[in-house]
Amino acid sequence: MAVPRVPLAIVGAGAAGLMAAITAGREGTPAVVLDGAKVLGAKILVSGGGRCNVTHDVVTEHDYAGSSAPAVRRVLRRFKVARTIEFFADLGVTLKREETGKLFPTTDSSRTVLEALLRGVRAAGAEVRHPWRIEAVALLDDGAFRLSGPAGQIEASRVVLAMGGRSLPRSGSDGAGLEIARGLGHHVTPRVVPALVGLTVAPECFVRELSGIAVEARLEVRGGTGRRLARMEGSLLCTHFGLSGPVAMDISRHWQLAVAEDPAAALVVSWLPEHTGESLDAVLRDLGAASVQAFLARSLPSRLARALCDVAGVAPSAIGHTLRREARRALVRTLLELSVPVTGTRGWNHAEATAGGIPLAEVHLDTLESRVAPGLYLCGEILDVDGRIGGFNFQWAWASGYVAGLAAARRDRPPEAPR
Ligand SMILES: Cc1cc2nc3c(=O)[nH]c(=O)nc-3n(C[C@H](O)[C@H](O)[C@H](O)COP(=O)(O)OP(=O)(O)OC[C@H]3O[C@@H](n4cnc5c(N)ncnc54)[C@H](O)[C@@H]3O)c2cc1C
Repeated sequence: MAVPRVPLAIVGAGAAGLMAAITAGREGTPAVVLDGAKVLGAKILVSGGGRCNVTHDVVTEHDYAGSSAPAVRRVLRRFKVARTIEFFADLGVTLKREETGKLFPTTDSSRTVLEALLRGVRAAGAEVRHPWRIEAVALLDDGAFRLSGPAGQIEASRVVLAMGGRSLPRSGSDGAGLEIARGLGHHVTPRVVPALVGLTVAPECFVRELSGIAVEARLEVRGGTGRRLARMEGSLLCTHFGLSGPVAMDISRHWQLAVAEDPAAALVVSWLPEHTGESLDAVLRDLGAASVQAFLARSLPSRLARALCDVAGVAPSAIGHTLRREARRALVRTLLELSVPVTGTRGWNHAEATAGGIPLAEVHLDTLESRVAPGLYLCGEILDVDGRIGGFNFQWAWASGYVAGLAAARRDRPPEAPR
């Protein structure tokens, strides 16, 4: 029996794939969207704590890691935040900006976002088939593709791979897309690691006893030689497994990639980021009759302050003018440069994104068409681009889905007759 052929197949009905389908459909090329998941949009539904942080009010290439910043910029600028707001307004979803700059639907429900996208797909004439898992994509002699999986086979003149990375595999994104792209001639970055994920620490580390305590802190990843490889400031949360909160999650990709290269790399915490070594030493010297604990209580929760004094070997009740130089030094080191024994991350099941993937160098940036397999397009998390927490990963999915969907729809279209 002949395998049915469609002009455009999109594999993956996540944020990027749905955006590509809506864009292509509006351009006059309705796509068949295939997704392996029984329940569509699982990742959109759980995102932002069930509220879906759709984007951020300021997005630049510097909010991302992975491929080069200029390459990321080329894609982002094609579909800016204002377009995202307009796009969702068109679909009936009003976004509100919170103090942090994050944008959420006014309903505070990610279901609003998913349902609007699915409505948009239908209105654009596209069709979503699921569960329709794709296990292989083969390039045919005539330049089309044959997609195969347990649900059957389908051929398509153009294919958009929007299969995501490896984060939250139970949502349907288990890295199969990376293998399929590899099979079509692409390279995957040498390392693919969970991003935006909590960091586990050694069982004896004091932070595990402080579960629930959150502070503003600065984290640095340093190489074995002490060279600073990454530095970030923000809210840090101590948990029963180690460190979480936005700043720990943001730095998790950097820590893993550093340790993979240099096992002596370390995570260094400053619990008083407003201080330098000199300013803190000066404050400690001038404490007079005040205790260390009383000083620390101004900036840190008392349980954390006591634990840090313990690490420094200084009694919390020690009075300022009795502190010897060595004790002040130990306090400054502990408070500003504490190397925390990170053992790993909570892994893919807890990761919000994927660091690594198909490098942007392997696609044409104006179209996101593959440089190795013409007619194949890539968008979303399958590409080697990961954003920090705050709506940046969705903005990447919207922008890259738009670029891929538009280009896939326009490919092979006869040039318009001059008017
Ligand atoms: C818990 C959590 C919370 C998050 N919160 C936010 C947030 O608030 N804001 C933000 O910006 N980002 C957030 N993110 C990140 C964001 O969800 C992702 O970056 C984004 O969804 C990626 O979109 P994508 O379409 O590229 O990939 P995915 O959403 O992973 O979609 C890929 C799709 O491909 C399908 N698929 C995979 N393999 C196959 C196959 N073999 N055959 C057929 N179909 C297949 C999958 O079923 C899936 O539907 C969060 C992520 C998680 C895990």
